Formats: sequence, structure tokens, C-alpha cells
Amino acid sequence: MFVRNINLQQYRNYEQLQLNSFGDVNLLIGPNAQGKTNLLEAIFVLALTKSHRTSKDRELIAFEQTSAHVSATVEKKYGDVLLELRLSAQGKKAKINGLEQRKLSAFIGSLNVVMFAPEDLEIVKGTPGIRRRFLDMEIGQVQPSYLYHLQQYQKILVQRNNYLKQLWGKVDTQEGLLDIWNEQLVEHGVKIIKKRKQFIIKLQKWAEAIHHGITNGSEDLQLRYVPSFGEVTEEDEAVLFEQFMIKLRQLKDQEIRRGMTLAGPHRDDMTFYINGKEVHTYGSQGQQRTTALSLKLAEIELIKEEIGEYPVLLLDDVLSELDPYRQTQLIETFQSKVQTFITATGVESLNTDKLKNANIFHVHSGQ
Ligand code: ATP
Ligand code: MG
Repeated sequence: MFVRNINLQQYRNYEQLQLNSFGDVNLLIGPNAQGKTNLLEAIFVLALTKSHRTSKDRELIAFEQTSAHVSATVEKKYGDVLLELRLSAQGKKAKINGLEQRKLSAFIGSLNVVMFAPEDLEIVKGTPGIRRRFLDMEIGQVQPSYLYHLQQYQKILVQRNNYLKQLWGKVDTQEGLLDIWNEQLVEHGVKIIKKRKQFIIKLQKWAEAIHHGITNGSEDLQLRYVPSFGEVTEEDEAVLFEQFMIKLRQLKDQEIRRGMTLAGPHRDDMTFYINGKEVHTYGSQGQQRTTALSLKLAEIELIKEEIGEYPVLLLDDVLSELDPYRQTQLIETFQSKVQTFITATGVESLNTDKLKNANIFHVHSGQ
């Protein structure tokens, strides 16, 4: 897919921006704090209705304003679509070709993007919550039904936790009620677990090959899903259902004591191994960075495989951090297949040879 143009109103430091001339490779150049990341973020938000760097929509609206507007025309295999998103304190309104979408899940996935930013290193180095967020964003982008189950799961989780707190110190007179919460939680939980398992297997296939390429065959990258209730060897929903239920029954007393749900997708994790050693613990800075990069590049191929079209690639400040060999590898791999937006503070740090045909935009104070 290809973003033809973009229009921003009262988005971060952009009061009003209209750009009509995007190409295959677009360089956004400018000093710090001018709006380069904001522009990439706006494209990301149009794809996922959420920012990659904050969960607070309020921050996306320009200071002193009450709403922000992002729209773009996206060229897809089956024609152009006009995507519009309006953010305000009242919530989000999304339109496709002028038609308001009742559910955001119907809007998400109209544009697919893969963002690679410096903070993505945290997917490898950071806490499990960051990896779950990564999984949720990426799976949700290609499978809207995943987001539905996730939302339901989170709602039930809150209610179940409240109920567990009420049970503390009491004889459970309504044994049956916890069972009902369990069933509902597990029903949606199983869908999430299954989709995460399948996603990680597919991502592994691509990431391993890409990582091999980047490291000249010297490193073997493995991804492993770590569900909170033990290994998932089966993808059969009935088997997973039983496995999850058994775990909840085992944990019941402990859960009541602590007033919270102790197993389920909200406690899942994933781990990365290079040549059999855990990257989180043993990987060098460079290996961790390359792992994050391999993951992101794998996503590009995975999205292509899932939806039949390449996503748009957003590279925030990362190209200049790669050595010339890796820059060339990256650009050559995706040139003429994947529309790319690249930010940098100057062209000096970039291997301009490979970027000869890029469109250059100078970003200055939200203009
Ligand atoms: P760097 O090279 O340092 O990464 P950048 O060009 O990517 O810089 P951005 O992250 O896009 O910079 O941010 C540019 C400016 O946007 C910052 O000065 C910030 O104060 C401003 N900004 C952030 N949120 C808002 C907002 N809601 N309203 C107005 N301005 C904002
Ligand atoms: Mg930036």
C-alpha cells in the first residue's frame, strides 16, 4: 500500500499540514523537536487509531485545542481509500471514504504500517508488558477479531478481579459465580493465546531468515511464546480451555488472597534466543538491536503474507544508527516494494547513494 497524501489539523505541533507528493522513499529531515516523529506518529495513528509512544490520546491533540484530525488517501490493491480520524476528549471518530465506522475495529487495518523506532529496543530489553503490547498491536493490525477478544478479556478481567477481592475473608457462598467469571475469561483468553501462538510461529519463520541475512549467517534467532499457564503445545481450543481452567482452579486460594487473576494472557511473555542463549540476559547491545530490527522486518513479510499487500514502513531515527552495510541491506531489501518514511536530523548520517531518488521534506516547527 501507498500513502499518497496526508492532512493534519491540530495534531501535536502541526496546526495545519497538507502534503501531496509522497514517493516510495520519503526522508523527513530537520533538527530536534521540529515534528518529524509527530508526522510518522500521525501515519501510525491512522493505521492503528493509537500512538506507538503513548496511550493517552489527549497528548496527540495540539496544546490549547480540543480535537485533532488526521486523514490520508491510501492506494491499495483494490483502489484508493480515504481514511479520516478525529480525536477529541469525547473519543475517536473514524471514517472510510466518508462513511463513519461504528466500530474502530472496522477501521483498523485499512492502512497497515510497521514502525521501527529507537524505543523498540525495549521489546527485547524491557518488561513483559512491552512485549504483550507489541503482540497486541501487531496481531490486531492483521486480525481485527483479536482486538475484540482482547477487549472482552480485559473487561472480564477487571470484573473478575473485583469479585476476587470481595471473596477475601468470606466463605464463598456463591461458588458458582466465580465459575461463571472463569468460563467467560477463559473463553476469550483461549482465542488470544491461540492467535499469539500462531503469530509467533509465523514471525519466527521470517525473523530467523532475516536475522541470518543481517548477521551473515552467524546468528540463529529463535522466538518463543511463554504463556503464563505453562507451555502451549496444542492449538486445539478445547484443550487450551481445559488447561487454562485447571490452572485457575489450582490458583483459586492464592488469587482470593491476593485479589487478582494470576494466570492468563495478561501475564504472558515471549523470549528471544540467539544461538540458544537468551538475548534479554546475554545479548550484547548490538545483538539486542539487531533482534529488534529482525522482528520489525519480519513483520513486513508477515503482513504481506496475511493480507496480500506490503505495509508502509516508518523508520524513526533508526537508519542513522545502522552502519552503512546494514543501511544498504535494509534499503535494498525493501526498495520498490515497500513505501518508506525515514526521519533523520541530517542527510550526512545516511547512505545517500541508496536514497538518491528519495523525496526530501524539511521539517521545521510543525511545517
Ligand atoms: P527529534 O529529532 O528530537 O526526535 P522530532 O522532530 O522528531 O525531534 P517530535 O517528537 O516530532 O520532534 O516533536 C516536536 C515537538 O512537538 C516538540 O517540541 C513537542 O514539544 C511538540 N509537541 C508534542 N506534543 C504536542 C502537542 N500536543 N501540542 C503541541 N506541540 C506538541
Ligand atoms: Mg523524533
